[in-house]
Amino acid sequence: MTGRTHDLAAFTAMTIVFTTIPTPYISLATALVAFGVNMVGGLAPDIDQPSAKLYSNIRGGKILSTIIDPLLGSHRLLSHSIVGLVLFGFLAKLLLDVSASVLLVDMSIVWWAFMIGFASHLVVDTFTKEGVPWLFPIPIRFGIPPLRFLRLSTGGFVEKSLVFPGLLLVNAYLFFTHYSKFLEFFRSFG
Ligand SMILES: [Zn+2]
Repeated sequence: MTGRTHDLAAFTAMTIVFTTIPTPYISLATALVAFGVNMVGGLAPDIDQPSAKLYSNIRGGKILSTIIDPLLGSHRLLSHSIVGLVLFGFLAKLLLDVSASVLLVDMSIVWWAFMIGFASHLVVDTFTKEGVPWLFPIPIRFGIPPLRFLRLSTGGFVEKSLVFPGLLLVNAYLFFTHYSKFLEFFRSFG
């Protein structure tokens, strides 16, 4: 999937979690940081892809990718697996703990935002032709549906004309069906 779809999928996953579980009090600062970190989490698994959106948006991205690429192997290996999810979750925890001294936000909520974004990436990629090696280092790629030819091509017509608008619709639907919860959430900032 393209970075754009992953971006929206990460946000959608947050909306789903927000509307399904009771939400603790979230400050405006926490919400803003969580929003950004959720996006980073949603793009992070593609850190193994040299052309990743993540790199093109940061300074020195090219140099960084030449250092990171050999460590993570080729596209869709470690970072697209349960081991990768745990590993990145651990690293994110360390990084957030360090930033906790300068950023006055609820780091556990920010961490969950990262993890939700990261997990959404793997789920969405499971619907693509390449599949996802969930059990890496076991070299099996899983896909839904199991028949490869039925799955999506990254950046293809179905992704752009069905998946992306579909995700937008899910957000709109959840927003209107949980309108009072969203209202209460935004009011708590006032
Ligand atoms: Zn990916």
